[in-house]
Amino acid sequence: MSKPEILVHACCATCAAYVLEKLESNYTPVIYYYNPNIYPVQEYCRRRDELQLYAAKKNIRYIEEEYNYGQWQAQINGLEDEPEKGRRCLICFEMRLQRTAEFASQNHFPLFTTTLTISPHKNSKAILEIGSQVAKLNHVAFLAEDFKKQNGFQNTMLIAKKENFYRQNFCGCLYSQRKI
Ligand code: SF4
Repeated sequence: MSKPEILVHACCATCAAYVLEKLESNYTPVIYYYNPNIYPVQEYCRRRDELQLYAAKKNIRYIEEEYNYGQWQAQINGLEDEPEKGRRCLICFEMRLQRTAEFASQNHFPLFTTTLTISPHKNSKAILEIGSQVAKLNHVAFLAEDFKKQNGFQNTMLIAKKENFYRQNFCGCLYSQRKI
């Protein structure tokens, strides 16, 4: 019997690798790359191309959403100087997860999730709360899993090393680059 599909919001190959491996035991993951926060566009393309190549290697369906950087910038207007894990990040999570939930609902995916919780630099509790809220609004189920648990981050780093993935040293937006 085929496994149910799950739409997986993914931000890069490094974060996605272990999440996909874990999900594959119960689901058929479909990658959804929606990250209008990433700046500049060359960085966006670098992360995208690597994830897309990995998806092809693993025979996983890959979907890319529009890179609407202007919309993201408008959403976080006035919060440029917020620290990482602050209010700008909550809006950034919400924008990406809202669109993922909407896409899942419109395209008949029974379930969605996100790779964002694998990062030790991100607030998993906030991400899971936002995921659950946008799931309700869009009438779709959300797999609220904190993927960094049970050595998730360490495991994904091992895969990243083996696969020789590019590993960025900032979260993604222009303002996270300034903090390095
Ligand atoms: S630091 Fe990361 S999560 Fe926060 S706004 Fe920037 S890209 Fe989004």
